[in-house]
Amino acid sequence: MTQTYTPDRPLRVAVIGSGPSGIFATEALLKQTDLPVEVDVYDRLPTPYGLVRYGVAPDHLTIKSVTRGFEKTLSDPRVRFLGNVEFGRDLTHDDTVAHYDAVMYTVGASSDRRLGIPGEDLEGSMSATEFVAWYNGHPDAATRDMVLHASGVAVVGVGNVALDVSRILVKTTQELHESDIAAHALSALEGSHVRDVWILGRRGPAQAAFTTKELREFGELSDAEPVVHSEEIALSPEAEAAITDNTKKKNVEVLREFAAHQSEGKLRRVHLRFLVSPVEILDDGHGHVGGLKVERNRLDEHGNAVGTGEYEVLPVQMVLRSVGYRGVALPGVPFDEKRGVIANTDGRVDGRAGEYTAGWIKRGPSGVVGTNRKDATDTVAHLLADARESRLPGAAHPTRTAVDALLASRGVRVYSFADWQVLDAHEVAAGKAQGRPRAKVVHREVMLGHRKA
Ligand code: NAP
Repeated sequence: MTQTYTPDRPLRVAVIGSGPSGIFATEALLKQTDLPVEVDVYDRLPTPYGLVRYGVAPDHLTIKSVTRGFEKTLSDPRVRFLGNVEFGRDLTHDDTVAHYDAVMYTVGASSDRRLGIPGEDLEGSMSATEFVAWYNGHPDAATRDMVLHASGVAVVGVGNVALDVSRILVKTTQELHESDIAAHALSALEGSHVRDVWILGRRGPAQAAFTTKELREFGELSDAEPVVHSEEIALSPEAEAAITDNTKKKNVEVLREFAAHQSEGKLRRVHLRFLVSPVEILDDGHGHVGGLKVERNRLDEHGNAVGTGEYEVLPVQMVLRSVGYRGVALPGVPFDEKRGVIANTDGRVDGRAGEYTAGWIKRGPSGVVGTNRKDATDTVAHLLADARESRLPGAAHPTRTAVDALLASRGVRVYSFADWQVLDAHEVAAGKAQGRPRAKVVHREVMLGHRKA
């Protein structure tokens, strides 16, 4: 059917997930001028911005300033934010197809990958994802009772998330105070016994996934210092010549500076270890982490880690696995289980006209916030081409009022952008009173109580 989109019958798009990819997709939809559009951005949480609010480290406030642009997008009259609406429960796949011409899934990757070693379920062993959600005040993790008795912590993986959790574990109260870390985490960390954190890379320094700016931060902490063993970062001239990536080259330089660094006797140490793989999390006899057994590795000719049969035990009481996020399937949407992404070709959902995806749930958990702008814009270009060439199936009930009536009939307490602005202003004011950038509200019911009159 040929559909002409007009100001009275605009192209209606539902964006599922209000993290960076969802907002960048919305931005791209607003930027074109030939098609009148109406975009409804949904989130299962009352608050918008996804990983910018709940994933980005609380002390990386500059990265969070991207929300100023996001606010502009969500304030556009062509856009509505519908928070506290869960896709698959409050709004099903069939509902979106009935009310929108196109649906864009941008839900990110909310789960984590496991190590698959004995002891992974012991008390004190968890994913970095859980730990991040806890210190960032995610409503699903805020009530978790995180006891920080450990003096030694192992963080498995050498990506930026591993660096984030390690840095938060070793920062002083004063340093943390300057961040927007959740109050419960600030007080738990204030009483923390952590002295040593081991960040473990299974391959060598030239293969580490982290970025140099984040690595450098370990040399700039008030009362913690980096420890690097020069023999673990030694590279043959051939291996050194083979590093073509500039970030990786700079990483190696910074690690060399760390290895040459004389201890200043700071309270806490961050040990950056390479060529070691965890093989077993040891039980302390009470079902709690009592140590981490690691095997030394060497690199084979393809750059893969191979065990040497030499072992050591790290004296840790907490293990955070930080080996990547994993996407979770959405009800009614084709999923590629192997890759942990929505089954798609260049952002078009396989076998589904009018359904699209962008961000981590499209391509997997890689890249920084800004990477998702191009990714989302690329998918939107396909959506717009399909709209212009009448390839969209067309909605049966293409109005805001129809979808509002449906959600109201189900008793869904939709949280609007105006409601969020009330909560946002409250958090900023409460933070200011404590000399902090923001004091996050962490309980969903309390959030829902802050509404536009
Ligand atoms: P990541 O960058 O993919 O790093 C995952 C790490 O886990 C890699 O070092 C990987 O090593 C290791 N790993 C995987 N399986 C392992 C195993 N079985 N045993 C030991 N190590 C294992 O993932 P991430 O840290 O979760 O970050 C996700 C994305 O968010 C990245 O693009 C990251 O840059 C971005 N991010 C950016 C910032 C920032 O800009 N400040 C902050 C946080 C996150 P191998 O290479 O050997 O597989």
